[in-house]
Amino acid sequence: MKTINDFNFQDKKALIRVDFNVPLDDNFSVSDATRIISAKPTIIKILEDGGSCVLMSHLGRPKGVQEEYSLKHIISKIEDVLGVEVKFSSNCIGKDAEDKANALEPGEILLLENLRFHEEEKQGDRDFAEQLSNLGDIYVNDAFGTAHRAHASTTIVAEFFPENKCFGSLLAQEIESIKKVMDDGEKPVLAVLGGAKVSSKITVIENILDKVDHLIIGGGMTFTFVKAQGGKIGDSICEDDKMELALDIMKQAEAKGVKIHIPVDVLAADAFSNDANTKVMDVREIPDGWQGLDAGPKSLANFDAVVNQCKTILWNGPLGVFEMESFAKGTIALGNSIANSTKNGAFSLVGGGDSVAAVKQFGFEKKVSYVSTGGGAMLESLEGKTLPGIAAILA
Ligand code: AMP
Repeated sequence: MKTINDFNFQDKKALIRVDFNVPLDDNFSVSDATRIISAKPTIIKILEDGGSCVLMSHLGRPKGVQEEYSLKHIISKIEDVLGVEVKFSSNCIGKDAEDKANALEPGEILLLENLRFHEEEKQGDRDFAEQLSNLGDIYVNDAFGTAHRAHASTTIVAEFFPENKCFGSLLAQEIESIKKVMDDGEKPVLAVLGGAKVSSKITVIENILDKVDHLIIGGGMTFTFVKAQGGKIGDSICEDDKMELALDIMKQAEAKGVKIHIPVDVLAADAFSNDANTKVMDVREIPDGWQGLDAGPKSLANFDAVVNQCKTILWNGPLGVFEMESFAKGTIALGNSIANSTKNGAFSLVGGGDSVAAVKQFGFEKKVSYVSTGGGAMLESLEGKTLPGIAAILA
């Protein structure tokens, strides 16, 4: 696996696919610069080698050229984060981009306009990718968030750099973290899967059963499992058409020696509202008119014991409706358990959608081993899929 550390970038132009798809506020200012900060180590290493950087990214989902999705809005934030002046080309291909790339001196940075202003980007168009490839000597992919897409800038462009292509340090870290959990995890290995629905996690669950010793199932998924086993779940979220599948997962787990842990009690509410009346109940005895919206205290104590005996932990999905303060306790308690286990030497990876939001919101970011930057890309990795952006560098 080639990374930027395998190259000396002196007098070379690096064409870097970054993920600068950052949120903008009403004044087009960057409201969360995490993704820019995450790309900094790669960019700085290349500049310190004596190379220059051509940065390419998408921003949002523009239909053709739309001013509000211009990457020029984020130039000053990139300059703040990197402490280096950033030049800009108002088209990611064509004469302006080529002239500006050719004129780059060592230590300089050029940012290209939004790749998705050209529909050829998402189509994975070869000609478009070739035009991008003219802008650099070495191709670096550092965008994990789009590594599951076979777009021109994430995958196809790599064909034009048969020898001179590598992973940036962010993408390399993502790959190593996933490998640490899925392939080389110190035992016991635990996956905590929460979130709303069994249907969106089923491929992850099936793939992960071969990798883990313990599986905690929480969040809304709980109730499909509980109902399938004959429990009364009241008005809790449930996918009736997935109950067979839930029973099959339990069977598969048993055959594979994986211990499944499901909440035994819940914090139930009489409405899907932060101000609803709430009661702790047995997860199998929720009356009609009530719904389970968070894990209960006995479940959290059970989960804490499991988390603290495991040496490798993957967390995907919240244990309750954490967006409402009244139902965030379970997710916070689990975060504390994982933080504690990490402090005692476990490796913990948090990734895939809402658990990342929860981890950031409740301040666990620095207390776990690694927080993934890619939602869909992370989920597809956990499903056991080879991501095209990663395969293109390895090819
Ligand atoms: P996911 O994107 O699949 O990880 O699902 C995350 C969502 O699951 C969050 O928005 C949570 O509010 C929701 N969720 C977690 N627990 C429950 C529950 N018991 N009932 C309904 N929704 C839930």
